[in-house]
Amino acid sequence: MSTDRFDLVKQSFEKKAIPADVPDAKTSDYFGELVFDRAKMHRYLDAGTLKALLDCIDNGRPLDGKTADGVARGMKEWAISHHVTHISHWFQPLTEGTAEKHDSLIDYDGKGGVIETFDGKSLVQQEPDASSFPNGGIRATFEARGYTAWDPTSPVYIMDDTLCIPSLFISYTGEALDYKTPLKKSIKAVTEAALPICRMFDPAVKKVYSYLGWEQEYFLVDESLYAARPDLMITGRTLMGHASSKNQQLSDHYFGAIPSRVAAFMRDLEIAGHRLGIPLKTRHNEAAPNQFELAPIYGEANLANDQNQIVMNLMHTIARKHGFVVLLHEKPFDGVNGSGKHNNWSLGTDTGTQLLAPGKDPKSNLQFITFFVNVLFAVQKHNALLKASIASATNAHRLGGNEAPPAIVSAFLGQTMTDVLRKLLEVPSDTPIEIVGKKKKTLDLVEIPQIFVDNTDRNRTSPFAFTGNRFEFRAVGSSANCGGAMATLNAAVAEQLTEFKKRVDADIAGGKTVNVAVMDALKPLIGSVLEVVCFDGNGYSREWLEEARRRGLDVETSVPEMFKAFTSPASVKMFTSTGVYTEKELIARNEVKWETYCKKVQIESRVMGRVASNHIIPAALEYKTRLLKEVALNKEVFGDLEGCTTEVDLIRKISGYVEEIRLMVKDMTQARAEANVITDDYLRAVAYHGVADYVLRLRRPIDELEEIVDNKTWPLPKYRELLFIS
Ligand code: ADP
Ligand code: MG
Repeated sequence: MSTDRFDLVKQSFEKKAIPADVPDAKTSDYFGELVFDRAKMHRYLDAGTLKALLDCIDNGRPLDGKTADGVARGMKEWAISHHVTHISHWFQPLTEGTAEKHDSLIDYDGKGGVIETFDGKSLVQQEPDASSFPNGGIRATFEARGYTAWDPTSPVYIMDDTLCIPSLFISYTGEALDYKTPLKKSIKAVTEAALPICRMFDPAVKKVYSYLGWEQEYFLVDESLYAARPDLMITGRTLMGHASSKNQQLSDHYFGAIPSRVAAFMRDLEIAGHRLGIPLKTRHNEAAPNQFELAPIYGEANLANDQNQIVMNLMHTIARKHGFVVLLHEKPFDGVNGSGKHNNWSLGTDTGTQLLAPGKDPKSNLQFITFFVNVLFAVQKHNALLKASIASATNAHRLGGNEAPPAIVSAFLGQTMTDVLRKLLEVPSDTPIEIVGKKKKTLDLVEIPQIFVDNTDRNRTSPFAFTGNRFEFRAVGSSANCGGAMATLNAAVAEQLTEFKKRVDADIAGGKTVNVAVMDALKPLIGSVLEVVCFDGNGYSREWLEEARRRGLDVETSVPEMFKAFTSPASVKMFTSTGVYTEKELIARNEVKWETYCKKVQIESRVMGRVASNHIIPAALEYKTRLLKEVALNKEVFGDLEGCTTEVDLIRKISGYVEEIRLMVKDMTQARAEANVITDDYLRAVAYHGVADYVLRLRRPIDELEEIVDNKTWPLPKYRELLFIS
């Protein structure tokens, strides 16, 4: 093994970039060629079918069976022209990643041969076995029926030889068993709640959109070195490994020149994404060695989330072509930054107004402030829940560590917006919010200055930051489905907007003008958010923890405990009133979350135990034996131990660490056995939280041994070997 490791490292160093498959065309020529987008709809559908489908996509009108048949016919013709042989509903169950089941297009033609068939029925609905997916007790194996249902708002696309149909996944009894369904419900809730508020300011608005722009962080490691690390292979992260002498302290990786092997991978990924109509835009090196990021142009939230899931799948397959494995785990390496997925979130109207961007006149500024403040208040009210929405066994290693995000949900406004809110509290409610021109950037009492994106400073420690025309929810984990966090945020904002509108309507009915009613309703919210949720300081500091506790923000750090926020009375009220989750779904989902937490920790703990016992201890003992032989020889030649006190010291240290590891593995196994017999999901997860602690503590003696044991004997690729791609 020891020589193998050197061979692997050398091979990885010598690997050359594999050229990307660059098409002989400009991006705009092949962008979207593998999606059945509007251009293809126009080409492949008859006029009646096209009209009905667009009416369904744009206005939510249901499709009838005849139209679905027409759509399927058009899709089939297009797909076959791309050599497609199979179709698959593609959905997002409560596992990591997506699910698909391919069906060939063939059917008997009744004349002794086969033909390609695809009708409306198989486009609209399929029936996978729901009991085989996490369902939190909603589906038992004996009542397994579940449905996947076509989502016409996200275009079907071609992956290799298969036509993939983005779909919802629901149980026979109608409960959502996926991420897409609640996300779509939450988009409906928030856009419908925002619409009447927009119409107070501009009656021309007919529709509001919810936008998402995700930034996906990831690590790349060489596939041969990866294969020599059982912990990476099985758990997605290194459970042990001493820090490399150099990691990110020189800040030389961030935005650095992209290594050629990586650049070739990125190109292939982008080309594949562009073919699928995914507007990938930004790529760069991230802070940690071997860490990178990519981001598209933001888009409608449901579609943007589907595209993120597609990109995550593409990353895995394309990385292998380049001899890499992509790590989407939130914390693959200790001591360097972990990976997140910033969710840039905003609302906009069909008239082109960005509702979270400052406007150009007093009216649009008031509209902006209305949405801005209501979002902040929703985040404040549901801060514990929002934290729960991004919590997982894997994201737990980022949460509360000395890196984004802290385990407290607060909002960063920047100085400009903080000043604006403070001033608004001081002036009478009927003061017009005047525009201040670009050059004249003074902050008069009665005026909201024109605010540019750059006027908001950056604060990397804030989990929820205003960045000029949007909020950036930074706490989302790199491996997560954005749907979980986005559904929660949308629902919380929807509830708040609805309550706000009720209060404003009552005041208008009582004789107030719109502006005064809005300002009067905003003022108590502004006062409250400035005192509680808004925080521009260092989110990692001890003082903030104390201060946040004093302000009444949730400071819980245990993931199993965090999940409880989903079923608190306030959350149940919020989710049911907005129609995003039923109480039954919330309870079921929490069971899934606790169960997933237990399983992940259980797997990590097993891997840790085995690698410690079967890799680390034998290597340590091998080195110890060599030292013992040296000492014995020394004594034989010189008659005493003089001259080998270092060796004796090392032998004692090795024995000590080996003993420590043995005992801890034994205790950890015992803790697991005790946890396994607990039947209540929540209590078992709490017990597994204790097991996770063993996994964390076990790495210390192992990492100490890595420092002592002869480099040649060490069985696992080290951080310095894994983390630097040339
Ligand atoms: P940074 O790292 O500075 O935050 P990036 O360029 O990496 O910026 O990513 C910013 C993301 O925010 C992109 O996906 C971008 O399209 C998206 N974005 C920009 N404006 C909006 C908006 N109004 N709503 C939602 N997302 C947005
Ligand atoms: Mg960002």
